[in-house]
Amino acid sequence: MTISKLPQFTPKAAELCATIPAATRHQLLANVFCFHCRDVVKIVDFKGMVSRGDLVLNGCCAVCGNEVARVVEEVYKLLVHPSREV
Ligand SMILES: [Zn+2]
Repeated sequence: MTISKLPQFTPKAAELCATIPAATRHQLLANVFCFHCRDVVKIVDFKGMVSRGDLVLNGCCAVCGNEVARVVEEVYKLLVHPSREV
C-alpha cells in the first residue's frame, strides 16, 4: 500500500501518514475499535485528515461495513525524526 496513491487523504494527512513507520501504520489500521462489532477490526475505504495535530482516519469496518474512525493522537511522536530531542 502506498499512501501517495490514496486520493482521499488531504495533502497534510498523506504527508503525515507517509512519515509513520510502515509497521506502525499497519498496526494502526488493523486495530480500530468498531462499536457495532464491539471488537477491534481493520479499517477499510478510509480517508484521512489532520485535525488539531492529530491524524484522523474515517472509514468503514472491514467486518460489518459500519463507519469507524481512528484518531491517531500525538502522531508526531510516531514519526521518524532522526534528530528529534525527546
Ligand atoms: Zn464492525
